[in-house]
Amino acid sequence: MVRTRFAPSPTGYLHIGGLRTALYAYLFAKKNGGKFILRIEDTDRTREVPGAVDIIISALDKAGMTYDEGPIVGGEYGPYVQSERKEIYLKYADRLVESGDAYYCFCSKERLEKMHADGATKYDKHCLHLSKEEVQARIAAGEPYVIRQNIPEHGSSTYHDEVFGDVTVDFADLEDNILIKSDGMPTYNFANVIDDHLMGITHCIRGVEYLMSTPKYNLLYDALGWERPVYVHLQPIMRDARHKLSKRDGDAGFEDFLAKGFLPHAIVNYIALLGWNPKNNREKLSMSELIDSFSIEGLQKSSSIFDETKMRWLNSLYIKEIPPEEFHAAALPFYEKYCPNKSIDYKYLSELLQSRVEVLSDIEERAAFLDAFDNFDFELFRNKKWKTDVEMAKDLIDDCIAATNSPDLNAALETLAADKGLKKGQVLWIYRIAITGAAATPGGGEEMVKLFGKKEVLRRLGAIKSALENA
Ligand code: GLU
Repeated sequence: MVRTRFAPSPTGYLHIGGLRTALYAYLFAKKNGGKFILRIEDTDRTREVPGAVDIIISALDKAGMTYDEGPIVGGEYGPYVQSERKEIYLKYADRLVESGDAYYCFCSKERLEKMHADGATKYDKHCLHLSKEEVQARIAAGEPYVIRQNIPEHGSSTYHDEVFGDVTVDFADLEDNILIKSDGMPTYNFANVIDDHLMGITHCIRGVEYLMSTPKYNLLYDALGWERPVYVHLQPIMRDARHKLSKRDGDAGFEDFLAKGFLPHAIVNYIALLGWNPKNNREKLSMSELIDSFSIEGLQKSSSIFDETKMRWLNSLYIKEIPPEEFHAAALPFYEKYCPNKSIDYKYLSELLQSRVEVLSDIEERAAFLDAFDNFDFELFRNKKWKTDVEMAKDLIDDCIAATNSPDLNAALETLAADKGLKKGQVLWIYRIAITGAAATPGGGEEMVKLFGKKEVLRRLGAIKSALENA
């Protein structure tokens, strides 16, 4: 059975690239009737961020990627948090020491620093040749140590990657990396192998930064007599031709995009296509369509550039089609942020805005008209296109009040235009400015009366009338 995993480090932040790695692992598992596993790689205790695991779990949940095994839900291969698996790693490290594939190293920081200062590019295997007795004695004496992988000095290793093809690395280019640190915790270089094997991972889908170190991991698989997984390395998401999209650019996190008002699935849909081609020319795909069309062959060898404009466009398609209640619920936090405590029908505002925003943070701009009346600018009555002016407003204001009181506002405004020999657009312009003070509103007079309520609109017209009289 296919088993894939997403193995994030809990940094308190889920980069959009990490989310995409998770997505491909999820899609591949689901496509093949397999299992998708979440494993928390928290062996670097210095980078620990409280609450970080919850952030990852909640992000996967919002993104609609339910994991089959992992923290909280458990599973038969747990625990799924590496810091809870310390003893397991030590057991296998011992086995590797026993077979000569790893060794204890007591080198001090000072010695290593000096070695590098003297021009060494990698560890010089200084402790490889310590006798068993000496090692035992130094451990017994309480000397701090690490366990290093014993990489062959000569030769090379080739493996097949599903995206990059055959990858060959000379052992001379690899270092005897630390497998177990002095605090007894494994490094990524060790834990990924132990866990992928013990958790039955069949396909290892991860970032391309591990492409060239995979031969080291393969040596460990071989030394332990384990079958290697299928490797699928992914190109990063780029900001431009030369730079990765990074946390430093701000806004590269899944949560950052949610805060900007992108819908979770729109993000998922967009990033799915950044690095994978569904080969059906479609750009808008639901999660089940993504699963159906996913294949490793469609993964791109070249990196892709993140295009927020395109993601906005895709998001607008999703926004238009979600049920009105769902749009309203998603919009509420943005009303809270940009236009709280207005005496308006917010539900109706949602009806007006749903087709007019691409991302929910557009609400800031789209709802700005709500404040326009309080900063009324009489100059707005003067409009070149419609050939309207303040005089015309003065002349029409009583009729505007009457029209508002009539049972059919639109018909009344139309009759008004006909009676005065004006174009309908001229009357509508004057009317909308008079009741909102805004040159652009979502919808016209009728919608605005519905939004603010007749009473408020009449109050406003009354205020404008006196202001015009006194002008
Ligand atoms: N913890 C590693 C990372 O966050 C995971 C790499 C992998 O998927 O093997 O980069």
